[in-house]
Amino acid sequence: MIAIEKANKLSAPEPEHCPGPESNSAGKADACQGCANKDICSSLPHGPDPDIPLINERLSTVKHKLLVLSGKGGVGKSTFTSMLSWALAADEELEIGAMDLDICGPSLPKMLGCEKESVHESNSGWSPVYVADNLGMMSIQFMLPDQDSAVIWRGQKKTGLIKQFLKDVDWGNLDYLIIDTPPGTTDEHLSVSTFLKDSGIDGALVVTTPQEVALLDVRKEVDFCRKAGIKVLGLVENMSGFVCPNCGGKSRIFKPTTGGGKKLAQDLGIKFFGSVPLDPRIGKSCDSGQSFLDLYPDSPASEAILDVVDSLRDEIEGAAE
Ligand code: SF4
Repeated sequence: MIAIEKANKLSAPEPEHCPGPESNSAGKADACQGCANKDICSSLPHGPDPDIPLINERLSTVKHKLLVLSGKGGVGKSTFTSMLSWALAADEELEIGAMDLDICGPSLPKMLGCEKESVHESNSGWSPVYVADNLGMMSIQFMLPDQDSAVIWRGQKKTGLIKQFLKDVDWGNLDYLIIDTPPGTTDEHLSVSTFLKDSGIDGALVVTTPQEVALLDVRKEVDFCRKAGIKVLGLVENMSGFVCPNCGGKSRIFKPTTGGGKKLAQDLGIKFFGSVPLDPRIGKSCDSGQSFLDLYPDSPASEAILDVVDSLRDEIEGAAE
């Protein structure tokens, strides 16, 4: 197991209004008075993060960086990330990296068929695990002693690992780095948007399901992106209707009571990349770590996913021209 950098130097959890132990006011702010970490934070070096130039240097060989977000858990974000990774890697001209930043619930390794792999370290950094010639991935899953281990980390420790992921993974030349994040707006989102501010994020793809309870949280996610200065590339509506793999009949499972993702995208002034129907074979493919797109290329879900990927590439590559 690779030793994880000792990022957590604090002796107690940060209180609610902590300004951040690496901030200039650490140890001096109102919230620091009475905090058990006051002496530690007062003595830590402050000012610009010395690791940011290292992250910029490391990621200078990555053309496009893309976050995959969802307001809510259970909308199929990681499933979609895995299919997006397979779809992009189907173009042999492209080099693709997938980074699993869902530290407490890493699922990409299973979906990409590499959960039993471990990461190797060389002089040039951590080597990604390759699931295809042009598709590498990195996840905390590879560093756990066993697959059922829970990761019970908070604040600084998570931030330290994310920084290490961005700074130390030897991706080589990549066309796309796809970063799968946890649901909601968490420490992971704040960290990754801060660390990548200088090296640049092309934008975020937001995944939702059609029902209002999921759409409500999309509004918050889009608001977070705006506050963090991350461009919202577009919205994908997942689990949008069910197409029976036997008879081809269509039915609605999650009802779009308020107009669904398309209407929300219009309201928020963001692009709508399309709707992907439910297909039980997607879950099976992910469980076995295989590409649904390769197994069922003619299914309506595969066609819908490829349409979304085309729109996404147009948006990213068009903006870069
Ligand atoms: S002393 Fe450190 S941990 Fe405590 S509130 Fe201040 S910055 Fe946060």
